[in-house]
Amino acid sequence: MQTLRRKNRSLPLVLDALHYLSHATVQQVYDWLNRPSTLREVSMSSVYRSVHLLQKAGLIKPLYFNENQASYSLRQPGNQQAHFVCTDCNRVRILAFPALSPWESLVSEQLGEAFQVHYSNFNVFGLCDRCNLEKQECDVPLSVQSF
Ligand SMILES: [Zn+2]
Repeated sequence: MQTLRRKNRSLPLVLDALHYLSHATVQQVYDWLNRPSTLREVSMSSVYRSVHLLQKAGLIKPLYFNENQASYSLRQPGNQQAHFVCTDCNRVRILAFPALSPWESLVSEQLGEAFQVHYSNFNVFGLCDRCNLEKQECDVPLSVQSF
């Protein structure tokens, strides 16, 4: 970590951002670091460079909630996360799964003991409560909406 800090002063800031945000895209990290109340400016290239170095060092991991961009979260061995991803608004909620070891043990069962799982990433996709409510309100037939 010391060698990483010497190379890039924004590394601890990016780590703090990911700790606070839980998971975030590079743009979300950039926006959070440059929010007006911080009175500081961190360049987008510094955020990209930090994310690249942190991922290379194994301290953060990419999570692909959609095919367009990765979100990143701190890598915590033994602490697996599951996520509910809204396909409409892209809001992500962390699910309180104690562990995903049954999924990980399936890897050994199906692929063999020579395969070693480092971490797993379990995502469930659907509509969040807000988007689902909006959709239901839009689906109400016109004759019911009047009066
Ligand atoms: Zn939603």
